[in-house]
Amino acid sequence: MLSAGPAARTAEVAPWPGGARAAVSLSYDDGLTSHYQYAVPALDARGLKASFFLTLDNMQDRVTEWRAVAAAGHELGNHTTHHYCGLPAAHAETFVRREVVDAQTRLDSLFGRTARILAYPCGVTDLGPGPPNDQLHRYAALLRAAGFVAARTSDGPPMSPGYARAHPFDLNATAPTYETDSLSEALDYLDLAVARGRWANLVFHGLGPTRAASGDTTNATHEAILDAIRTRPIWCAPIGEVLGHIGVAGAVS
Ligand SMILES: [Zn+2]
Repeated sequence: MLSAGPAARTAEVAPWPGGARAAVSLSYDDGLTSHYQYAVPALDARGLKASFFLTLDNMQDRVTEWRAVAAAGHELGNHTTHHYCGLPAAHAETFVRREVVDAQTRLDSLFGRTARILAYPCGVTDLGPGPPNDQLHRYAALLRAAGFVAARTSDGPPMSPGYARAHPFDLNATAPTYETDSLSEALDYLDLAVARGRWANLVFHGLGPTRAASGDTTNATHEAILDAIRTRPIWCAPIGEVLGHIGVAGAVS
């Protein structure tokens, strides 16, 4: 829901709460053990809430730990059952039913109703045949028909509220530490969001004391990013909460 006041009705003037000049949502994809081991304590120590996109294959043996994550106020979203990324060859309806809808049914049975938000595995939206716009439109239509309200990619600059409202199934994001365990890309992205009054989405995968695999973020870099958020005029909230704030209904149960 939009905040009251004329500024809230102007798409490029971000109506962020508390006088913040930008918004940021933190995503942790794949349902990894390192998320509740390292990310959640770092977030909780700083009073920050995040979005955890769960892949059932990775987390079904750790339901107790994930229930604690939800109980701490973090958002649980859908990152499919098996994390397939070869979508052009998939039968679209069957893929969405088995990978997304069945995963949502399972997540709801484990955690109660969870956010109807998908993080696209591998960031890909090329479901079925045809050009990219047709593929994304097909995917989004199937998600919408299944009760989803939004889906997050892994690319693109910080968004204006108006852009996010108009393209809820093509939400921009970046994984700033995927290629290198460096702080600078995340800081540049956050500073761009502040300069333009926009919504930044930062995506993380594995975390740990050292960078054990491609895509991992060290705890030191991750915590430095969280500290950078706290020292900037940025409202940090889970994706569903930001969507609700900018007027995309139904994102939060
Ligand atoms: Zn993933």
